[in-house]
Amino acid sequence: MSNALPILPSDASPSFYGMRRERLAEKLAVYGVPAYRADQIFSWVYQKHTRDAGEMMNLPAPLRRDLTSICDLALPAAAKVMRSADGDTHKFVLTLADGARVESVSMRSPKRMTFCVSSQVGCALKCSFCATGLMGLTRNLRAEEIVAQVVAMGDYLNWEDDRFNIVFMGMGEPLANLAAVSEAIHILHDDHGIGLGARRITVSTSGLVPQIHELAKLGLQVGLAVSLHATTDELRDQLVPVNKRWPIAELLDAAREYGHSVGRRTTLEYTLLGGVNDSMADADRLASFARALPSKVNIIPYNPVPGLPWKRPSPEAIEAFAQRLYPHAPAVTVRDTKGGEMWAACGQLGGLSPDA
Ligand code: SAH
Ligand code: SF4
Repeated sequence: MSNALPILPSDASPSFYGMRRERLAEKLAVYGVPAYRADQIFSWVYQKHTRDAGEMMNLPAPLRRDLTSICDLALPAAAKVMRSADGDTHKFVLTLADGARVESVSMRSPKRMTFCVSSQVGCALKCSFCATGLMGLTRNLRAEEIVAQVVAMGDYLNWEDDRFNIVFMGMGEPLANLAAVSEAIHILHDDHGIGLGARRITVSTSGLVPQIHELAKLGLQVGLAVSLHATTDELRDQLVPVNKRWPIAELLDAAREYGHSVGRRTTLEYTLLGGVNDSMADADRLASFARALPSKVNIIPYNPVPGLPWKRPSPEAIEAFAQRLYPHAPAVTVRDTKGGEMWAACGQLGGLSPDA
């Protein structure tokens, strides 16, 4: 490139993490930089984990110097990182450009690393047992703020796990922010970047039926998890208010169709609330739902949220519920509670902290 790039104030350049490679190539083309430079930059950032354009030694010097005026490589600052006693779980509180805070969690198990990412600041859907729901919705996250959560967690953990899964099970309802979520998935998927396969990504929804259909149309092939939590509409109306709009039968139909279109089993998530949805009759109805579509069942014992009235069932009651399901449901797992001691477990992301 012959001419120096214009130097703009750094807050005028868009974040790198929200840019598809094609978009970066377009921006570079304006300055006569060939498209393969975008491939090289993707590889530096997402594969070699370089955050400083000056270190990208196979780029011409002017591009190294001026790249940050085309795109900003800065990541959100970690306001706080908490580590579980066994070292397997980390909860990250990231501060975004406008000061909003978002929480992400990394969970290592013997088999794999999982990054749990947020899709919104807060959530509008007000499920009755969820800390994020208590906050209400502040705003949607942008694609770059979703991708940056993954990169920030990977950096912190020194990219020790080159293979990992991503679950959209942090703060917010991902299907209420589908445009940014699908854009982030495209970026994470790029082979010149992180190269994350669709089979390693799961989107969890409380049940936005039209958006499940839309997700199918996008053809991203990501896994779908449905937050069921009740086996009658009467109870689900109370626990997951969005059920009043799209009741259980409609939700399961949409999940079945989605599963067929991507050739994957749907996960039915079931948060177990003591004395509320943990009866043997519930287990039997849940098993029949699970059999009616290609699915697996994931039981999540309730994680306490201060101020909410619900109780986690006793270990015996959890075991009894699972035992009742095993012979009748296709695949049942009980989620071990990762990060409960630091308010990092499912449904506990909402600005809670151990010293709060
Ligand atoms: N908004 C999406 C994804 C985020 S929550 C959704 O609702 O599916 C991830 C899972 O944790 C959901 O199944 C959610 O219902 C569940 N959950 C929420 N609060 C919980 C709590 N206090 N204890 C256990 N699970 C909870
Ligand atoms: Fe929102 Fe999911 Fe929490 Fe419901 S469970 S309030 S949809 S984040």
